[in-house]
Amino acid sequence: MENKGNYLKTKLLDNGIKPTYQRIVILDYLETYHVHPTVDDIYHYLAPKLTTLSRTTIYNTVKIFVKAGIVSELNIDNSELRYDITTETHGHFKCDKCGKIYNFTSDKAIESSDLNGFKINNTNILLNGICKDCLDKENE
Ligand SMILES: [Zn+2]
Ligand SMILES: [Zn+2]
Repeated sequence: MENKGNYLKTKLLDNGIKPTYQRIVILDYLETYHVHPTVDDIYHYLAPKLTTLSRTTIYNTVKIFVKAGIVSELNIDNSELRYDITTETHGHFKCDKCGKIYNFTSDKAIESSDLNGFKINNTNILLNGICKDCLDKENE
């Protein structure tokens, strides 16, 4: 934990963010659980451990992380924004059954002559379906 704490602190400092205890705890959560959480998800997980933590603090903290480029903001289902520690380009798969969002890497860039002359702002790929876990459960 000591080493991990230092790593998180350094990561914040390297990105020009003052490493307060709460920011370190929130970053630690994002680094540990790649679940694309909403502010609410983060709050429900951390609030029992850190009673002084408020939703506003989490909200402000993730905004700082996004601005610094260490977290990206996802708008997957047009509801609540989700936060993703993996900032390299990757695709997402959303399971229609359990609602989990999986990351996947894709080595093929999407190119289409249909979009010649368009300006693309967001290259996120989103697939939907049923994840392997849910399929396995169905087949049990
Ligand atoms: Zn599933
Ligand atoms: Zn992701």
